Amino acid sequence: MGMAEDIKLWKLLYRPPTSSWTRGKVVLIGDAAHPMLPNQGQGGAQAIEDGAALGLLLSNLPDAREVPRRLKLFQEIRKTRAAAMQIFSNAGQDEAEKIQKEARAYVKGPIPKMKRYAINMAELVGKALEAAEAERTPEESEGLAGF
Ligand SMILES: Cc1cc2nc3c(=O)[nH]c(=O)nc-3n(C[C@H](O)[C@H](O)[C@H](O)COP(=O)(O)OP(=O)(O)OC[C@H]3O[C@@H](n4cnc5c(N)ncnc54)[C@H](O)[C@@H]3O)c2cc1C
Repeated sequence: MGMAEDIKLWKLLYRPPTSSWTRGKVVLIGDAAHPMLPNQGQGGAQAIEDGAALGLLLSNLPDAREVPRRLKLFQEIRKTRAAAMQIFSNAGQDEAEKIQKEARAYVKGPIPKMKRYAINMAELVGKALEAAEAERTPEESEGLAGF
């Protein structure tokens, strides 16, 4: 420390998971949507998962009017997982007991070990798109026809 010429303070800040990432055609991703402490080295990983999900969801748009709906799907797919990562990141690798209770709100079933908490993004997005398509009313489908 004594030899350093320039020392800066690097604050580690925590923010709890937020309720909404999107409005209309605007969406938050990465640290803007889910900032987290560095304990699990997951901030960048989660930003990359956001990018993968968005890429899949916006790659076959029938019409620009579909964007808000796809962004809502994006939020549904990503928010719970990223929120779980935010909570997991409040503890070190060997301190899982510290976050069990808080993580319960975001994880179904047993709280997984971090390294095993992997997902198949293409499968998740595919299922979400299928479910959303099934819910579309005939009027909505009609409105998109021809684009
Ligand atoms: C020391 C350190 C180690 C880390 N290690 C890991 C790790 O091992 N694994 C991991 O997964 N994550 C790690 N992270 C976290 C990871 O770096 C972040 O979570 C990730 O970079 C977030 O990506 P982002 O695109 O959301 O934001 P950022 O990478 O912060 O990108 C935001 C960009 O927007 C730009 N910007 C800001 N304001 C404006 C403006 N007004 N106009 C235009 N551009 C603007 C910034 O210059 C920046 O380029 C680490 C972070 C730090 C600091």
